[in-house]
Amino acid sequence: MSLPLYLIGARGCGKTTVGQALASALGYTFRDTDSHLQLITQRTVAEIVAEEGWSGFRQRETQALKDVTAPFTVIATGGGMVLAAENRRYMREKGSVLYLNADAGVLAARLEAYPEKDQRPTLTGRPIADEMIEVLAARDGLYHDAAHGVINAMQTPESVVEAIIHSLSLARAV
Ligand code: ADP
Ligand code: MG
Repeated sequence: MSLPLYLIGARGCGKTTVGQALASALGYTFRDTDSHLQLITQRTVAEIVAEEGWSGFRQRETQALKDVTAPFTVIATGGGMVLAAENRRYMREKGSVLYLNADAGVLAARLEAYPEKDQRPTLTGRPIADEMIEVLAARDGLYHDAAHGVINAMQTPESVVEAIIHSLSLARAV
């Protein structure tokens, strides 16, 4: 299977961590839409949002998705990538889309342990745990809609990688 693999899910679900490990296990290239955006704009996500607003950021994000899409590539996407129907459709057409699913409490605990605030602007300015509940309530349905498969991301990164490889091998068998 040479098609790109897209990892989707909320901030903190492990798209970058798991994506790097998965790419190395498969011998694929790893790309990250947020890192790509930072590289080409020479700005952080927080800076882009401050200067161009979330709508400007979202437009750049759609372009970044197209830029990094290639065969034999694992692509970690920004948490809000699924908000645009265009992005959901594009990912489903071009490759396999996997939702790394984790509870709001798990996501909040991970983000609190490693805040990296400049990389991760809060969406509401409220406590991270409240924000994750709200973000998941708004986006969980979109993640499910966009995904070909849902992976339990509340296990070690190694186990998440194994679960993904297992689900891909099942998908290939049918
Ligand atoms: P994302 O790219 O989805 O925002 P990251 O890969 O950056 O998520 O992970 C966010 C934080 O959670 C990082 O500090 C990372 O080390 C940690 N993390 C990621 N996946 C797991 C996991 N399966 N178990 C425990 N911690 C994890
Ligand atoms: Mg990431």
